[in-house]
Amino acid sequence: MQIVQHPIQLRLNIERLRGDRKVSLVPTMGFFHEGHLQLFRAAREQGDLVVVSSYLNPTQFGLGEDLARYPRDLNRDAAMAEEERVDILFTPTDDVMYPSGTPRTWVRLENLEEKMCGRYRPGHFRGVATVVAKLFNMVRPDRAHFGEKDFQQVRVVEQMVKDLAFGIEVVRLPTVRENDGLAMSSRNSYLDSDERAAATILHKALLEGKCAAQRGERSGNEIKEVMEATLAREPLCRPQYAGVYDVETLDEIMGDRHGHVLLAVAAYVGHTRLFDNLVLALN
Ligand code: AMP
Repeated sequence: MQIVQHPIQLRLNIERLRGDRKVSLVPTMGFFHEGHLQLFRAAREQGDLVVVSSYLNPTQFGLGEDLARYPRDLNRDAAMAEEERVDILFTPTDDVMYPSGTPRTWVRLENLEEKMCGRYRPGHFRGVATVVAKLFNMVRPDRAHFGEKDFQQVRVVEQMVKDLAFGIEVVRLPTVRENDGLAMSSRNSYLDSDERAAATILHKALLEGKCAAQRGERSGNEIKEVMEATLAREPLCRPQYAGVYDVETLDEIMGDRHGHVLLAVAAYVGHTRLFDNLVLALN
């Protein structure tokens, strides 16, 4: 595996190594866990040249968020990526990604970025869309792989690819969970043992919402209330939102709905902000 920091070196290496293979990009912020590894494997299994980017993107963090304490360990990540037979690990610096400091050009997604998590993290999805657009321009992949754990992020990227005609196939992969249901996340490393136990409440809330739907409940608002009541049972949990959403527009659904819907929750457990979701077919 090659580790490269500069986009010119990156392009040279991609062209030298690719042969007649397609190029897959997996964008990450590092500190790999099994959720990341499954994305690498999916790209590998398609027979592609696999480029993983690891960049802790400052423009997607708000003031007072966890940029400074976000976990990092490049040596550990490089060993894990190598083990998964990643071809190139791209680790650009801030100077390379933002040569003029704060950019003047931003990618914004009207009517998508301000919903769900975006309501509580203003500017977050603008930072995500902008950095992913830059990575797409640097790597020029045929495919890019994203986890449904960050459902709003994958919707933002899909929409951006369509609206700006990037011509890249966006591949979605299901959420990878711990045995007790907690969605894997680099941020889970912030949790102490009591918080770690309490954090399972997010997935429980989604499952209770799903159970309500399986009992015949079709009203978004009723399912939302079931999820809110579940979150309220856990004293270490401070909920931000729970709701049922349209899988395309991410609009909240309050009334009755049939077909696929997104159940999503976000909450602080201690000082750690966690979020989770699942897609449900209401028939
Ligand atoms: P991150 O490093 O957290 O920005 O995540 C990089 C990529 O891994 C994103 O596409 C995430 O959606 C994906 N990812 C993170 N956690 C999981 C998980 N538990 N299951 C599946 N994909 C994940």
